This record gives sequence, structure tokens and C-alpha cells, in this order.
Amino acid sequence: MQQSQLFTKTRKEAPSDEVSKNAQLLIRAGYIHKEIAGVYSLLPLGRIVFENIKNIVREEMNVAGGEEVSLSALQDPELWKETDRWNDEKVDVWFKTRLQNGTELGLGFTHEEPMARMMKDHISSHKDLPRQVYHFQKKFRNETRAKSGIMRTREFVMKDLYTFAKDEEEHTALYERMAEAYKNIFDRIGIGDKTFKTFASGGVFSKYSHEFQTIVDAGEDTIYVSKEKGIAINEEVYTPEVLKDLGVSEDELEKVEASEVGNIFSLGTRFSEPLGLTFKNEAGESVPVVMGSYGIGPARIMGVVTELFSDEKGLVWPESIAPFQVHLVGLNGEDEEIKDYTNGIYSALTARGVEVLYDDRDLRPGEKFAESDLLGMPYRVVVSRRTKEEGQFEVVTRVTGETRMLSEEELLQDFVTNEEDDD
Ligand code: ATP
Ligand code: MG
Repeated sequence: MQQSQLFTKTRKEAPSDEVSKNAQLLIRAGYIHKEIAGVYSLLPLGRIVFENIKNIVREEMNVAGGEEVSLSALQDPELWKETDRWNDEKVDVWFKTRLQNGTELGLGFTHEEPMARMMKDHISSHKDLPRQVYHFQKKFRNETRAKSGIMRTREFVMKDLYTFAKDEEEHTALYERMAEAYKNIFDRIGIGDKTFKTFASGGVFSKYSHEFQTIVDAGEDTIYVSKEKGIAINEEVYTPEVLKDLGVSEDELEKVEASEVGNIFSLGTRFSEPLGLTFKNEAGESVPVVMGSYGIGPARIMGVVTELFSDEKGLVWPESIAPFQVHLVGLNGEDEEIKDYTNGIYSALTARGVEVLYDDRDLRPGEKFAESDLLGMPYRVVVSRRTKEEGQFEVVTRVTGETRMLSEEELLQDFVTNEEDDD
């Protein structure tokens, strides 16, 4: 993409009403737009990052056997009354609205109920199980705290998958498979080494649930981690009994701030029973389906990545989710010959499938470099009269600042093989 075609502008100062580092940087770099507190819109570059994260999640869900659907955001109160979750005292984050005739409607804050009711039309026998169904859908939550930028918003997309199993054993296998898929997702995004499967409170049907917590200063949760044992426990459930349960001692755990990027939850028959989601087992008896739910917030991940990898110059994207792999910066000025030469390398890279943001604008080198650092693509390729005369391109790795001089052949080989490795 040619940068002259990008409508977004960068800014030197963060808006004064924005307190979180991730939103400050993403607004400065023109990735997001703030609507109101806790509500943000995605601009072109931000949308690409967001879609890249979604695609990694989608790929791993599909590999694990997930089937993608898209359920509605508007919700039927009658359904939620059946599970006792319409009540504002039970659920304090509802956004509710009304039809013209006065009938109440909800804006979904999660989808256990509608998923379970929808599946009633499709599950009747043990032969219909197991199933794994997911969607990426907007959730609306009237969150009281909205100080963490895009890590906690009042309107956000969640990937929520639901598993439907005939018994605990089948459920456990699905649960473990999802935990594995989550690990792959966080590894691929580049936060795997900082993300811990964390014991958290379980609810009615299981002792524990698991949160995937990424260690980051801006996180709103506190967890205890034993890096050696690879075990983490949320402060909310951290007691001597739990430590004993998990076979860790107090001086093994380390207390850190973390952000919940995903969670997996055994639901038992909490929803299938009241909603009548049953099936006929092999003995011909009607029994409730055993469910699980599995959430991930792509925008929260985008915020966490911003917090973790950015530096004083700006954003730093991992290659797996960067909007473009290469920021091609042409220092052409009025020099038509250099412009043509830079156009040529842009065409050569894009023809080979490399994602390139091409700064084709007529600006001073200092301005271009500062903006390039702020935007945070993994590699910057600089083309100038000097590099042309030397028959070389200057390649700067954003995360380390390391600079290499490569010939055209080396450059193409480098990025094209890189792209192929990713596939
Ligand atoms: P938290 O404890 O942080 O409030 P939660 O337990 O309410 O989160 P879930 O309902 O399980 O979260 O949501 C699943 C995933 O959706 C979370 O792991 C997180 O990645 C994301 N998520 C939850 N709430 C928000 C929010 N307000 N803004 C952005 N992402 C969110
Ligand atoms: Mg939670």
C-alpha cells in the first residue's frame, strides 16, 4: 500500500484525556479512534492488525474442530430469564434496550444461552455429539472500569467457542484440546512465553476454570506464577488449600500483574439443563448436554502486544500480526530517478507476496523515519541516492534497531523466504 493513499494522520502528542499507554500510542499512530470512554473504532492499520489476530484465532479454532457461525447481538430476555441471567442484580453489565412497542431486548454480553438454544435444533442423539461451535461477535458490557484503553472496552469483539459433549470424559478431551489451541494462538502471536494458563474460580460445575494470563504491567489482574513449574494461580483463588491441591509451595509462585487474554470454562449442565438442551444416550434416555465455553478478546490481545513491545519511539509489531512486514521508505525528494527505482523495488516485493507499506510521500528523511518508528512495521527498507549508488538497500529491524546492507537479490530472498516460512 502506498502511504500517500492512507487517510490517517499521526500525531506527536497523545490526547490529554487518554490515560492508558496502549490507547495513547495507537491513537498517535492513527491505528484507532476514540469515540467515547471505553469505546474505540479501528482505522485502516488497526483493522489489519485486528484481522490478523482474528485469523490466527480462526485457524487454530478450525484445526481444533471448531465450526464458525455468527449469532445475533440483540437478545431475547425470555431466554435469559430461563437461566436467571436477565436480572441486573445477577449480571451487572447488561446494556438493555426496547422495541418501539415497549418490549425489552438485551445487547449480548456473552452467548451461552443463545448458543445452547440454537443447538437444540441440531442435537438430538449421542450421534450428534461432540460439537464445537464458535463465532466472532460484538459483546456489549456496561463495564465500570474503562481505564485500560482497548484492553477493556464497553463494546468489543469476542471469539467465543462452545463445546457440546455427551459426558464429562468427552468434555475433558475437548477442554484439553482447546487449551492446546490457545497455547498455539499465544505462541503464534508472540506472547506465548509471557502467557500462563492460570487456575481461576470454577463456578458451580467445576473446581477451577483456566484463564490465560499475560504478564504485563498494565494488566488488571494479579496472579502468582511459578515459572519453573509453569503453574499460575489467580489471586482471587490463591489460598493454602489451592497451593496444596496443585502441589506448589508458597516460596515457589512470584506475584505479578497480568491481563486475561483468554479463558476456558467447564459449564457442566448449568445452561443445558434449564434450557432443555438434551440428547438421547445409547440407552435411549434423555440427558442434558455437557457444555464448555472458551473466550478470547482479539482487541485485548492487540492492547497487550502494544503494551509489551512498544518502546519510546512507538509501536513494535510481531511479524505474525503486523499490518505490513516491510515499511519501504523512499528518500526520493524531487529525484525522479530514485522514485522510479523505489517504485521498482516496491513492485518486485509486492509481486512476490511481501506485504509492503510504501512511504512514497515527499517529506524530510527525519520526519519519515520518526513516523516509521511510530508505526512499528517489523522491517524498514530505506532507498536513497546513496543506497542506489552502492547497489544496496538499508534494512533496519524495528525491534533491535539493527541495520544491514543488502543487495536487491539478498533483499528479495530474505523477505520472500520469510513469507514462505510463515505459510
Ligand atoms: P475480565 O475478568 O477481564 O473482566 P471476563 O472474565 O469478564 O474478563 P470473559 O467474559 O470470560 O471475560 O471474556 C473472554 C475474553 O474476552 C477475555 O479473556 C478477554 O480476552 C476478553 N474481554 C473480556 N472483557 C473484555 C472487555 N471489556 N474489553 C475487551 N476484551 C474483553
Ligand atoms: Mg475473568
